[in-house]
Amino acid sequence: MKLIIKYYQFIHLLIPAIESYPEEYYGLLFGDKTSRTSGNERFIPEFILPSLTAQRRSKEVSPNEKRDERVMNLVSRLADAKYIGDFHSHILKKGYDYDKRPKTLDEVLNNLIYNARYSDYDLKSMEKNRNYIYIITSLFKNKWFAPKQTKKGDLFGSINNFNFLTSAYYWNSRTKKFQKAKVECSYVTGFKGFRKYKP
Ligand SMILES: [Zn+2]
Repeated sequence: MKLIIKYYQFIHLLIPAIESYPEEYYGLLFGDKTSRTSGNERFIPEFILPSLTAQRRSKEVSPNEKRDERVMNLVSRLADAKYIGDFHSHILKKGYDYDKRPKTLDEVLNNLIYNARYSDYDLKSMEKNRNYIYIITSLFKNKWFAPKQTKKGDLFGSINNFNFLTSAYYWNSRTKKFQKAKVECSYVTGFKGFRKYKP
């Protein structure tokens, strides 16, 4: 299973997360789920719409389901794009003494990977529909590191002094659990635009 994010859509995914920092953010994904052979499906978002009415806090974000339904209905009228899932952010900021703050690339990566796991609260809402993709972007304020893809397929990078790690979860009907999809984005695989913002 893959999640293919086009470069400009990645900007829509990332910038609201950074704007909301240190609160979490949440939004809806519309696009395509291509049915290739089982296990090789791809989610391809066309529209990434941050929810303006979700309740943001530093530890969780609660969707406004009524408003979400309104957005889903409007998008289905305006565009040839299906609802394919949602996204939200996790903030890694508290609980670190300055001396214990993750500093090296490995420390930062490990903390972000840990922080991008879905919570029990997230799982409850993911269980409502196993056909969708669920993106979690974990954010941390530190120093700049070069973008890369982790072995499990997460997308890692930095913009100015924000480090982010984007994980995507889908239901694997064989293992009967949510697991990570490989996140592919030209931000990592070729486009070097972000590098010029290196502080
Ligand atoms: Zn969460």
